[in-house]
Amino acid sequence: MVLKDETRLIRAALTPAQPGAPMHAGPVFATAFHTPGDPGLAEYSYARSHNPTWTALEAAVAGLEGEGAEVRVFSSGLAAVAAVFAVTLRPGDEVVVPEDLYFGARQVLEEMFVPVGVRVRAVAAERLGEAEVLAGARLVWIETPSNPRLTITDIAGLCERARAAGVLVAVDNTTATPYAQRPLELGADFSVCSDSKSMCGHSDLLLGHVAVRDREWLQKIDRHRTLGGAVAGPMEAWLALRSLQTLPLRLERSSANALAVAEMLRERADVEEVLYPGLTTHAGHGIATRQMRMYGAVLSFTLSAQSSAERFLAGSKLLTEATSFGGVTSSAERRGRWGHDAIAPGLIRVSVGCEHVDDLLEDFRQALDGAR
Ligand SMILES: *Cc1c(COP(=O)(O)O)cnc(C)c1O
Repeated sequence: MVLKDETRLIRAALTPAQPGAPMHAGPVFATAFHTPGDPGLAEYSYARSHNPTWTALEAAVAGLEGEGAEVRVFSSGLAAVAAVFAVTLRPGDEVVVPEDLYFGARQVLEEMFVPVGVRVRAVAAERLGEAEVLAGARLVWIETPSNPRLTITDIAGLCERARAAGVLVAVDNTTATPYAQRPLELGADFSVCSDSKSMCGHSDLLLGHVAVRDREWLQKIDRHRTLGGAVAGPMEAWLALRSLQTLPLRLERSSANALAVAEMLRERADVEEVLYPGLTTHAGHGIATRQMRMYGAVLSFTLSAQSSAERFLAGSKLLTEATSFGGVTSSAERRGRWGHDAIAPGLIRVSVGCEHVDDLLEDFRQALDGAR
């Protein structure tokens, strides 16, 4: 019986049915494991290399990443990002990134990799697959949907062109999660995700993972984690395993709510632009529909000025003003306040949570009316 993702995630944490045994395994708190004689014979030896709670989590995530996927979890999304850069890039290599690359990844490249001779080429997301952009590069890094502008990149199309050019492809899949989008099945070499966002979904866990199909890359990612030591705590890994049981429910509700909010915003004369791949008017809607199961929790919209955006956020009763996204609690921020991205001062990025859609719509309307 081939189980669907929803069922598999719920059953991932179950223990074998021994009378009187707990239904679910708890986190395994251990630095050292019983390792008599030849240490190679023990499945677990020392906790920086492996831990049974990671193994359970990695199996659950691998199921989401699809056929043949192997996963390694890290202590944060950025540790997972840095691991892919570290195993693929050597001095003299060039990595191609989109101009609106997640700022944390940009900082890792600029502060850790450029000083040792890696070259970074940033181009508009639409140009990533062009032959002269890919020529001579080692790795192309994409993020789709990107944020805060929710740009969509055709993963399968890009992978085909990159393979022809001999360039590796890594997809930062944080906004979609592997439940909504499977980069490895679309041809990517690496699928990377910050599990701190929609994957775990309660705004209380910092985690990340890398998924690959190729055994050699898996070995390198695994070795990088053991030596770099950016390992997840057993408690975090266990909480993640529990959080994943509700990922389909959370993401379905968030996506439906986000679409309803986006459609309402689009009708408003005081909203200049609404960016959500679920809108038929979005430039990437067709590709998003082909490569995503649902459109995710994140949308952005633009008001005329910084001051109206600030009045909107102050007047909303249900949007918690915070960075990050993907939690059950709706949150929003005026993205320009960080100064990281080249975006309009009135742009608000919203992470739509799992509240009742009527409450969200009513709150958005009253906050917009008050911001005029
Ligand atoms: C948050 C985020 C990361 C980094 O993840 P952390 O868990 O915060 O380290 C990487 N990529 C994207 C797209 C993100 O949004």
